[in-house]
Amino acid sequence: MATYKAKSIVLKSYRLGEVDKIVKLFSMEYGIISAVAKGAYNFKSRFSGRLELYNIIDCEMSEGKNLDIVSQAEIIEVFKNISSDFFKFGISQAVGEIILKTQSERSPSTSIFRLLYVTLKEINKCNPEDNATLKKILLFFIARILKIMGYVPLFDSCSICGRKLHDKEIRNDTGNLIFSIVYGGTICKKCRGNIGGLLLIEKECAEMLVSLFSLKIEDVVDLDVSDKNMGKLISLLEKYFLYHIDINIESFNYLEKIEK
Ligand SMILES: [Zn+2]
Repeated sequence: MATYKAKSIVLKSYRLGEVDKIVKLFSMEYGIISAVAKGAYNFKSRFSGRLELYNIIDCEMSEGKNLDIVSQAEIIEVFKNISSDFFKFGISQAVGEIILKTQSERSPSTSIFRLLYVTLKEINKCNPEDNATLKKILLFFIARILKIMGYVPLFDSCSICGRKLHDKEIRNDTGNLIFSIVYGGTICKKCRGNIGGLLLIEKECAEMLVSLFSLKIEDVVDLDVSDKNMGKLISLLEKYFLYHIDINIESFNYLEKIEK
């Protein structure tokens, strides 16, 4: 049986039969891996505590017929504050679900691996019940994965005619941005008359939206965003994501529920 090694992050796990555990991992070398850890639920399993959600592990795998088999797992890093915090766990689940639904097996991406790692690290580091910061981290993650996958909205040229826009054309006099989710960005004055569904994004939101696609995570968490704008940005980015990536993210609905 062929074996291989993979540096991985545990994103999902469930029980198979009495004692086996199925894990879904995102690995640096192979993208998504689905594997079974035999006997993981045994009292004295060698995997004890190692294949927990959001752990970073070095694992050794053997190729199986359907699922690969985890033969060894060593912990590299544990984000111990995630599973014990309701909201941190909820945001991490959304992040994990997005990775599992947008990435595939045998299709590695170092950028996605790094993004996932810094996102979970920042979630873990966040103060307990600091939901405002956690929402910024989620915004950062959604914007970044869109960027890596090639779906950055167009902010400096018109998304319909492609014309490069001057600063004054991108935002009107009040600094608001005219945006289309369907066309994926700003729409120039000339093209605005021809389409529906345009959104007016107010100055503060517009500035934050643009910066989400370029700032580092530590700068995003330092941004000053009101609750109202945060709600608008999350809803906008979720809609943009769902429209362009076209997959249903169940955790978005869940997050909305626990918010209320
Ligand atoms: Zn145009």
